[in-house]
Amino acid sequence: GSLPNAERVAALMQQAHDQFASLDDGAVADYIPSLGTADPALFGLAIVGVHGDARAVGDADHLFSIQSISKAFVFALVCEALGHEQVWRAIGVNNTGLPFNSVMALELNGGRPMNPMVNAGALATTALAPGETAVSRWAFIRDGLSAFAGRELEIDTVVYESEAAANHRNQAIARLLQSYGHLPGDPIEVTDIYTMQCSLLVSARDLAVMAATLADGGVNPVTGRRVVGEEVCADTLAVMATTGLYEMSGEWLFEVGMPGKSGVSGGIITIAPGKGGLATYSPRLDAAGNSVRGQSATRFLSKALGLNLFASR
Ligand code: GLN
Repeated sequence: GSLPNAERVAALMQQAHDQFASLDDGAVADYIPSLGTADPALFGLAIVGVHGDARAVGDADHLFSIQSISKAFVFALVCEALGHEQVWRAIGVNNTGLPFNSVMALELNGGRPMNPMVNAGALATTALAPGETAVSRWAFIRDGLSAFAGRELEIDTVVYESEAAANHRNQAIARLLQSYGHLPGDPIEVTDIYTMQCSLLVSARDLAVMAATLADGGVNPVTGRRVVGEEVCADTLAVMATTGLYEMSGEWLFEVGMPGKSGVSGGIITIAPGKGGLATYSPRLDAAGNSVRGQSATRFLSKALGLNLFASR
């Protein structure tokens, strides 16, 4: 299968944008102080097919920090470096049923992270990035995410500094992982690299290219460059399906029928394997930290474009 023809995709994206732009439920995240300044009116959609064909509507070129969406791509890069077995044993692949920054989830699981899409498991994943020094581990992550995007990604220093000054909870989670023997390296340094990865600036258009790379078995369809292997993509999509929208992942899969990943700045990516990647951006979030308009637009487009993976045709 493939995506419907370009005109139909463009018309449905415009319809989704027009229909859901009036939704103003939810609130912009402000526990990271600088995220609170985002304009709640922003709304962008982008789709990139596995042949590199791109479509965008609304504020698809607005740059925002990638936040938790980075978790999917760092997981893929670490899987590529370490392999399926080691990552499975070290990080886990099950949903916690609890919020993304839960400490209790870690305690209830005997101090082991449960999956790479929530903060504990994401910190443990970042800790596994190969490299002799913090600088080389950070380069591994930044270069890898840039290869997914097909351009050199840069940190939003305002967001980085704002979160770095306020991320005591993530530091505590990293220290707790260390105390249980599940975080190699220095927890404060790992938290800092994690905070940098979350601060990388992307647009919905960039995210759609990154998502399309996962849809294309690890080859960036715009640059033609292989970023990770096919098995790694399958592993990453499986974990996104179980936990990409945190404790709401079941409802997401029920409504959308595809793996997705959200972040607190308001982005969501969705992957139609073998077809393409969809990205939405709108900063107002529901209680679980998932973009309200993004969820509605993605649900609409999944149905309208016939992308549900569980449909027999
Ligand atoms: N950097 C954010 C944090 O650790 C990412 C969380 C998210 O996007 N859900 O809190």
